[in-house]
Amino acid sequence: MIRVRGLTKRFGATTVLDDIDLDIADGERVVIIGPSGTGKSTLLRCLNFLDRPEAGRIEIGSVAVDAAHAGKRDILALRRATAYVFQNYALFANRTAKQNIMEALVTVQGRPKDEAEARAIKVLAETGLADKADSYPAALSGGQQQRVGIGRAMAIGADLMLFDEPTSALDPEWVGEVLDLMRRVAEQRQTMLIVTHEMSFAREIADRILFMEGGRIVEQGPPEQMLDAPKDERLQHFLRRVG
Ligand code: ATP
Ligand code: MG
Repeated sequence: MIRVRGLTKRFGATTVLDDIDLDIADGERVVIIGPSGTGKSTLLRCLNFLDRPEAGRIEIGSVAVDAAHAGKRDILALRRATAYVFQNYALFANRTAKQNIMEALVTVQGRPKDEAEARAIKVLAETGLADKADSYPAALSGGQQQRVGIGRAMAIGADLMLFDEPTSALDPEWVGEVLDLMRRVAEQRQTMLIVTHEMSFAREIADRILFMEGGRIVEQGPPEQMLDAPKDERLQHFLRRVG
């Protein structure tokens, strides 16, 4: 269970997240949509303190953190409870696919190296990249690099997987294989919070869609309701633009 209360983030005088409340059930797939600059990435980043929120309470599984008083140990606990898939893969260029997946297992989770390596090899097989274990990112296509990025998140076995526009940096020809892998992750009942502009994918994978604007969740509901019968005028406007 994920429970967020009163999450607030400011950059200078600008309030980017405005008192966000959000509950996510175990195994639920939640997709966030909304115009540029409305705080979608910031919300994901605040959930594991890549950005530090000014206020709010975050509970992920057994971890509970009060943002205003969070210390190093709280932040590490949140990072262990979450796994992040970045738009630009964020792989280490000087490490192989396998080493990239091992990295978090060793440094964040403190697992022994041989155990981390066995886990990385297993995950590479699940992502269809067994033969790329020893390849460096520069030798992989964009789609393969992002599959390594997702594999790295899968390997962690986190309570919550965060995806920030995982296909938007890809050439169109690689989008399909990355979405396929995300479908497979979803089938494992992994709790997922996904920012995406792929509306047909959102419709297919989401249990619930959130529409954000101006740092707030303006409307939320199941995909059919949100995409076919939007109530809020700002959501109607947004869908006309992206659809
Ligand atoms: P996009 O769809 O373009 O990715 P987004 O909804 O993810 O947009 P955010 O990246 O969360 O939007 O940004 C929300 C607001 O916060 C924007 O106005 C942005 O300029 C501002 N912002 C984000 N990061 C910083 C930062 N490090 N310093 C100052 N302002 C920031
Ligand atoms: Mg963003």
